[in-house]
Amino acid sequence: MVLDLPTLFVACMLVAGLSVAICVATWLQDRQQDAMLWMAGCCFLGGAGTLLRFELPERLGILSGNLAFFLAFASLWAASRVVDGRRPSALPFLLPCAIWILAFWIPGFAESLRARIVLASILDLMLVAMTMFQFWSKRRSGPPARWMIVGLLAFQSLLLVGRIIRTGIASGAGLSTQALHSLGLVALTTIGFSLMVTFAMILLVKERAERQHRSDAETDGLTGLPNRRLFDKAMPLAYAKARQTGNSLALLMIDVDAFKRFNDHHGHPAGDACLRTVATTLAAGVRPGDITCRYGGEEFAVILPQTDQVGAVAIAERLRLAIRALALPHGDADDKSIVTISLGCAAAAPCDAPDVGSASLIAELLRAADQALYIAKTSGRDATRAIEVVLAEPVMPQPLTCLSAASAPLHAPEGPRLQ
Ligand code: GH3
Ligand code: MG
Ligand code: MG
Repeated sequence: MVLDLPTLFVACMLVAGLSVAICVATWLQDRQQDAMLWMAGCCFLGGAGTLLRFELPERLGILSGNLAFFLAFASLWAASRVVDGRRPSALPFLLPCAIWILAFWIPGFAESLRARIVLASILDLMLVAMTMFQFWSKRRSGPPARWMIVGLLAFQSLLLVGRIIRTGIASGAGLSTQALHSLGLVALTTIGFSLMVTFAMILLVKERAERQHRSDAETDGLTGLPNRRLFDKAMPLAYAKARQTGNSLALLMIDVDAFKRFNDHHGHPAGDACLRTVATTLAAGVRPGDITCRYGGEEFAVILPQTDQVGAVAIAERLRLAIRALALPHGDADDKSIVTISLGCAAAAPCDAPDVGSASLIAELLRAADQALYIAKTSGRDATRAIEVVLAEPVMPQPLTCLSAASAPLHAPEGPRLQ
């Protein structure tokens, strides 16, 4: 196949320009996505490399064109780091360029077509392999776009390896023909590669931004804990899992005691700091699979999968004591009271529940935990109370009710009390 080099050259410039414009436009839409600027740099340098290689006199064109290609691949590597929140370093930009420039000082290198093609291909291959590894290393967090980029880079690596082998074994005359084809191939790969990698990067960046927005929407801004929105999603999932596996499910509702008075004494900024400390302590005091959320205001909720009533009460008491252990002053200097929490526990075995839709049964669990919290408050605060929920067959058409709602005092609150 004969490749018409001038046509390829024009197409290459058009595609590189278009890719740069698309990358910059994508970055302008969301300026946090710096990876798209690196991508724009990659496409620009790829186009510039082709321009220099075709337009400048032979020796200068080879020297500068390849330098631009190394920088283009290094920019792609930088994009692959930035997209995963890592910082790029200068070494992949400097090292291949330094090796290439130094090689031109070696007598005979500039004149040896074989040496030039092999060295340039090895340096390109090194950068492509580093970029591929970078995308590959985060494959678990990635959407299909990540695999698409890894596939493109693997294909590019194969082309480069093939080029090195063919150049190594080609005879003198065959080498010149191959070099001519090689120029066309460079232009072709620049076109295909810029287009496809740009497309895949846009998909990757968009997916990341979407995931970030979703995570922001489900995170409480003050404490960094999952918020009520996530709680409302997580509860049905935990319920369904418990029903499927036959495990029990428990819920803790937690409220900071007399927090209005804390704000009155210390001011709202100190109140915010206190809520952050309480949130961190609660989250640190539960198991990895448990979900601690800020339910609203000074209230928190903890979903405890695979936990029965006894286990839930033990965890609740551990949390209550952990907050006491912080010994955060609640009032002014001569008031010795400290910040405390009250907790309501509810546990149920969803596998025993009738198959009437989870929403009403989850509402029962919530209501029971809330009621237990209310009892903890009215019994003097700084306390844990529990209600065992029996999810029973409803008498149609009446709504499902909580049959067992016994509560028992679990401890005698010690230390200074808040009323
Ligand atoms: P109780 O022991 O009965 O729960 O009394 P309480 O004072 O904690 O309850 P109340 O509902 O009367 O007041 C809750 C207080 O929590 C009032 C509100 O200003 C405060 N609060 C809620 N959210 C925040 C917040 O994000 N930051 C701060 N600083 N205070 C908050
Ligand atoms: Mg409250
Ligand atoms: Mg309160």
